[in-house]
Amino acid sequence: MFKKLKPDQMVESVCDIKLDELMRRGISNIIIDLDNTLIPWGEENIIPEVYQWIKAGQEMGFKFCIVSNGSFKRIRHFASKFGMLAASKRGKPLSRAFKNAMMTLEGNKHNTAVIGDQIFTDILGGNMLDLYTILVEPISKREFIGTRIMRFFEKTIAKRRRP
Ligand SMILES: [Mg+2]
Repeated sequence: MFKKLKPDQMVESVCDIKLDELMRRGISNIIIDLDNTLIPWGEENIIPEVYQWIKAGQEMGFKFCIVSNGSFKRIRHFASKFGMLAASKRGKPLSRAFKNAMMTLEGNKHNTAVIGDQIFTDILGGNMLDLYTILVEPISKREFIGTRIMRFFEKTIAKRRRP
């Protein structure tokens, strides 16, 4: 169980993820969380550095698919802004959400990675399907109350460093 909560990689921000390294691992598909991974929670502003990281990835041949438990309207809005695909299923960490995204990307478990800021949804869900998982630090401290409660358990279990 604890093994499934451990990400393969931990970074501060998506911008710190080395895309060429991922490509060398044979990864070309990225399932990515939206809130606090790409966009500050509940906000609309796009961070220029994040946008540039995405564009660099797309130019290298990476395909991205957003999987979020947030509203479909918000998911579709940012998917179109970023030129990403959007999974039609929610319910992370359930496998159906990640399987749906993998199908949308036409990827498989060998060439797909999961990036997100939450251990109990993004990392657990990705690891249950044996995908390569990358944990990022949440962009914003302002979070949904349920998420804040999960943070307590994350800190206890994974001893995550907090700034
Ligand atoms: Mg998130």
